[in-house]
This record gives sequence, C-alpha cells and structure tokens, in this order.
Amino acid sequence: MNKLFFVLLALLTINLAGSAQKLVVDSLSGKVKTYYSPGRLNRAKATQQLIQDAVAFYEAQFPGKSFSVPLYVVDKVQVPFYDDSANYLAVGSISQRMAAPRLLAATLNSPTDTVDLVAVHELGHYFQITLHQAPIPVQWANEFFATYFAICYLQTKNISLMSSDLAGSPRTYRPTYRSLNDFERLYYKVGGVNYGWYQEQFARLGYMLYPRFKTRLVQIAIDEYGPTGKKTPPMNLLQRLAPQEMKTWLQDLQN
Ligand SMILES: [Zn+2]
Repeated sequence: MNKLFFVLLALLTINLAGSAQKLVVDSLSGKVKTYYSPGRLNRAKATQQLIQDAVAFYEAQFPGKSFSVPLYVVDKVQVPFYDDSANYLAVGSISQRMAAPRLLAATLNSPTDTVDLVAVHELGHYFQITLHQAPIPVQWANEFFATYFAICYLQTKNISLMSSDLAGSPRTYRPTYRSLNDFERLYYKVGGVNYGWYQEQFARLGYMLYPRFKTRLVQIAIDEYGPTGKKTPPMNLLQRLAPQEMKTWLQDLQN
C-alpha cells in the first residue's frame, strides 16, 4: 500500500461527532476551512462565502479577537448546527428550503435560503461561546443572543430573518407552549413548529432592540457573561436595559 492510500484512509475516517458524521474527502482552503461531501463544490463555495463574510464582519466589530471555526457542508445534515465540544459548524449540502423545519421565517425572496440564515444563527452560538468563553446558562437567552448576533450581520446586508408580516401583525398559528419557562423546561421538545415559533419571538425581540443597541448589546453580553462578568440573569439584564421593549415583548408572548 502506498502513502497516498494512508492519506486517503485518514481523510475517510475523519470522525465527526453527531449528525455531521460523514465521509468528507474534499475541502476548500480559506479563512473558514470548508469540508464538503463529494460533488457539492458549488454549495460548499456559496456557504463558505456567506460564513466567511459573517466572520469578517464580527472580526471587524470585535478587533483583537481571534476566530477560527471549520465548516462542514455535508449531505446528511438536515438543519445547520454548531458543535461546541468539537468546534465546527455543519450545514446541509443540498438546498433544503422546502424540506427543513421552519426555524426562522426568512424573507422568502431574499437571495439566501432559510437554512443558510439558520447557519448564521449557529455561527452566533460559536461567537458567543468564543467571546464569552462559556455559554449563557439560560437556554432562551442563549438562543436570543445567537439570533441577535445574526441580526447584527444580516442588517448590514439588508437581509431579514423575518418577513414583514411576521414582524408586524399577530400570527394565525397558535402554539401549544408560549412561556419562557416552558422553553427552558422542554427546549426543542416543544416540537418543531413550536420551536420555530419561539425562535421567531427571539428574532422579534432582536429587531425591537437592534435599532437602539446595535452591536453594543453583544459587548454588554460579553462583559456580563464572560469569566469576570456579574452574570446577571438575562431577563433582569434586558429588563434593566430596555424596560419598555421587554414589557411589550413579554405581553406579546402571552397573547
Ligand atoms: Zn440556536
């Protein structure tokens, strides 16, 4: 057996945790090293471009920080995710706008797929963990801040996570669960559609707070939840920063 065979074997046995576990034999170099399923070059390039662009944005916002996260664009991933134990971002390699559960209601005529926007949210989890050096220990706030990260970037691109009808008027969908306590207790077990509804509420809050705080809210969270932060419970923190918006948002959650 020659040397090349062993190199190939090593590549073939790359062992990814969770559902990204897949043979990936091709890769793209660049700021965000990208591995992809054979034959998915175009999809890998497009996803890498989006993620690299978002990374460049965050690096400019938080100078002096060093960011490094590999990207896996693989066939069997249904919904993008960030694995914090192995540090990688995984995205499906087939456009799944129709097939994927609706996590966030992306504007349908945006040039980017819903799933890709979820990938930017997942990148938010990566940045959060990297900047704070620990996850925010409250599930709903963890999700909210990941989306807030995504909003900061997407606003500069004029892409919205929410279609205008969702951002404005009440919805016809009646969720089974609607309290933050239920989300904390059940998390994704609230069920796919209900989980998407929660994510929409977090995005709605993000859009309420963004005009006033911009990326300053991210810096506040870094200071608060980093190693030397006071770790004020996120609800108290947000209510102190934006009492009126939080009151409105919490009322809307229940109605
Ligand atoms: Zn998330």
